[in-house]
Amino acid sequence: MATGQGPAGKAAARAARAEKRAATRAALAAHPPVGERHQVHECMGCGQRQVVPTLDPGMRARCVRCGTTLRRRAAGGVDRPLALYIASLGLFAVVWLTMLMRVSTSGIVHDTTLISGPMELVHQGLWPLALAVAFTSALAPLAKFVGMIYVLVPLKLGLRVPGMAPVFLFARRMGIWAMMEVLLLGVFVAFTKLGDLVTMDVGPAVYALGLLTVVTVWADQALDREAVWQGIERLGATWGTVPDEDPIGLDPHAIACEGCGLLSVPHEEHGQCPRCGSHLHARKPNSIARTWAFVMAGAILYIPANYYPVLTVVQSGAGMPSTILGGVEELLASHMYPLALLVFFASILVPIFKLIGLGIMLTVTMMAGNEQRTRFMLRQRTVLYFIVAWIGRWSMVDIFMESLLGALVQFGVIATIQPGIGAVAFCAVVLLTILAAEFFDPRLMWDAAGLNGARFKPELRDSTHGPAVSNPSPS
Ligand SMILES: [Zn+2]
Ligand SMILES: [Zn+2]
Repeated sequence: MATGQGPAGKAAARAARAEKRAATRAALAAHPPVGERHQVHECMGCGQRQVVPTLDPGMRARCVRCGTTLRRRAAGGVDRPLALYIASLGLFAVVWLTMLMRVSTSGIVHDTTLISGPMELVHQGLWPLALAVAFTSALAPLAKFVGMIYVLVPLKLGLRVPGMAPVFLFARRMGIWAMMEVLLLGVFVAFTKLGDLVTMDVGPAVYALGLLTVVTVWADQALDREAVWQGIERLGATWGTVPDEDPIGLDPHAIACEGCGLLSVPHEEHGQCPRCGSHLHARKPNSIARTWAFVMAGAILYIPANYYPVLTVVQSGAGMPSTILGGVEELLASHMYPLALLVFFASILVPIFKLIGLGIMLTVTMMAGNEQRTRFMLRQRTVLYFIVAWIGRWSMVDIFMESLLGALVQFGVIATIQPGIGAVAFCAVVLLTILAAEFFDPRLMWDAAGLNGARFKPELRDSTHGPAVSNPSPS
């Protein structure tokens, strides 16, 4: 639609948009949605419940209030994600088992694989760092790929196997910690940094890693979560008996499951989701207190992370320890401007952005009762939450780079690189801020603004039951 100039054009465009919306509403009323089992969704961004009509493949339904995606229907059914996850698993094996890089200096030649990174970290006594690297670049992706294949193969064959629902939940959770794409960036940064120190040849693992990143992103795009859950329902592999009717309108006490998104009325005895077995909570439990704790811990550790060296380059017997900021300065001094910008952004700006962003969201949420403040930029804050939750993983690029450099440059007296204690603190900051974002429930911001009805109004709620919101005390 062409937008006209001036107020008359704008008014016409607005009228056209309103007309289009009215037409969509009329079409929905004339043809009530059929075909999908659970059509009422609760928005995980704002808590608004709404009917999502049956979507065509490739379509996405967004929340009318905050714009968060409610349901995305992927094209390609089960076959496409299954094929892509199997391909991912094969590439993953190549990435871990073949040569990553051949480095040489003064006639000494080293072949390194990806395993050398964590191994060298353990050798230097930095085992927490080795554990974090191994978990995010090996264990979590492996668990995710195997879990997805375990669920998708029986779904394709129409077979019921034990544990489909918990395995699918677990695989999705592992996806948060699987950081192969960040590892690829870490390899790239390490490769560029080493350019003038040693001679390097790239091995097959690097190409496989590049390919793996593309295939994994594609697989995640092709996976239709709700379709998988409905497939699990059809096979009867759910945790309990899933009710046929959507509970909306039937019972105001229905709760949206954080694990699978199903709205159901919690059972009096066990209070678990009938589809996936997750414990049902109207809002993430103790969200405010837990998020504050992780934000505080992250903020405190941010100081040693920047004060202590993350890397020491020992060349001809002389050591040069450098901090995160020092590393950026070195890159600037060697005229690697784009790389300096990247490291500055990922390692210095992103953690600060996350801590401040979450701090603001928490503070405003605790101002329940003050309508003007709690409604200020509510929609933008909800979008900010999802950005904060997504961006944090990219800070791991520094950790992966340090782990690789430590493994690649071990040439005795000629040149060695040792990751420092600052890297351990920095890694803790990254993991703590990821956890903080996971514990925060953005729906609480809309509750605090009084937009989710009396049931979720923080000042009316019994503090010992239901979703925990710390009310600022009047004193
Ligand atoms: Zn919403
Ligand atoms: Zn569930």
